[in-house]
Amino acid sequence: MSIAEEIYSMYEKMEISREVLDYGIRAENSLADRFDRIDKVAEYNQLKVLHAMQKNHVSEAHFSGSTGYGYTDIGRDTLEQVYADVFHTETALVRPQITCGTHALTIALAGNLRPGDEILSPVGKPYDTLQGIIGMRECPGSLAEYGITYRQVDLLSDGSFDYDCIRTAINEKTKLVTIQRSKGYDSRPTLSVERIGELIAFIKSIKPEVICMVDNCYGEFVETIEPSDVGADMVVGSLIKNPGGGLAPIGGYIAGREEYVNQAAYRLTAPGLGKELGATLGVNQAFYQGFFLAPTVTAGALKGAIFAANLYEKLGYKVIPNGSEERYDIIQAVEMGTAEGLIAFCEGIQAAAPVDSYVTPEPWDMPGYDSQVIMAAGAFVSGSSIELSADGPLREPYTVFFQGGLTWNHARFGILRSLQSLVDKGIVKISDLC
Ligand SMILES: *Cc1c(COP(=O)(O)O)cnc(C)c1O
Repeated sequence: MSIAEEIYSMYEKMEISREVLDYGIRAENSLADRFDRIDKVAEYNQLKVLHAMQKNHVSEAHFSGSTGYGYTDIGRDTLEQVYADVFHTETALVRPQITCGTHALTIALAGNLRPGDEILSPVGKPYDTLQGIIGMRECPGSLAEYGITYRQVDLLSDGSFDYDCIRTAINEKTKLVTIQRSKGYDSRPTLSVERIGELIAFIKSIKPEVICMVDNCYGEFVETIEPSDVGADMVVGSLIKNPGGGLAPIGGYIAGREEYVNQAAYRLTAPGLGKELGATLGVNQAFYQGFFLAPTVTAGALKGAIFAANLYEKLGYKVIPNGSEERYDIIQAVEMGTAEGLIAFCEGIQAAAPVDSYVTPEPWDMPGYDSQVIMAAGAFVSGSSIELSADGPLREPYTVFFQGGLTWNHARFGILRSLQSLVDKGIVKISDLC
């Protein structure tokens, strides 16, 4: 048997039909040039991370964890220098005590804002959890309760920045501008690093002392530069997304100017203590190794997103971003059109997982949502969205948001399995697969 035949028979054993596989192979072949470009970005970013690790003399001694107060944890401190070197910032805070991306954003904001200050989002409404932090909706402990106000300027209908309104919105109270790189689960375009740079330059030309913070979630290593290369004072993200490389079991980071990162650290630990303490227990090695793998893992997830876009677009589904657009994050949305389609897609993703593949995801009433939500995830790290996962609310237009895949081979399989699930339910006809 040739290797191609061996692969075929393995897919068949895993319930992917020949028609679905052939359709997938054709889609993949048409993407060779784009995948080549993604590999080039990963090659660059791999060298960038490796260079930072070598420069900082990363050694086995950095992998043993500290306990208690965690004073003089050289593994932690060196890792933070590695992050700072990769993001080209003065310093970084990379900690297991940061529970998630929302927490990292919270300490970046709360640490740097004081009563009477104002936050500006010039790119429309921020990610759902950030709305709670800011107090855009009633939320105990929000910044609004501390007398911090918020202003927002939406993107124009063509996705461009509304420079006139941004100029008007900046006032004597404006202390910090928050810019979300990824569209998250919104329908606006994701921002390229270059566009973020243009926005920051404009804002600084009006008020140079304003702090420009970028929510970098899902964007790390998608391009060769990061927002901190184009003027961002702080970049913030989650370690159970791109930069954790799938190995970090928890954590978040803030990279940026020393003054601002230290303020965030005083909020994370305590005023006067800051970055000096925080035991790493046993996570240092996973943080290093995950960061080392992150460029490759991100490239695999990116290929998966583009593959899914092309597979479903050719079947007539609306996909955001579309099959040929440039990518600036790893999220893919597919409008399934029906509840059955959304559920079948998620069942396929679940069935493709290395963990919990035998369970069936069910729509449920998730707190904070006005419609039921279905989620598919079978992850090594609970809730990790750099691992292959999909979810969506059961309401028009039944959009599934799909992201991750620790390897391209797994992402490919998951997407084929989702399509197979639609075929098995008669939602997609075999005759459509041409
Ligand atoms: C994931 C994400 C966050 C933070 O979410 P957590 O679930 O708290 O890690 C914030 N902003 C964006 C754009 C995200 O994608």
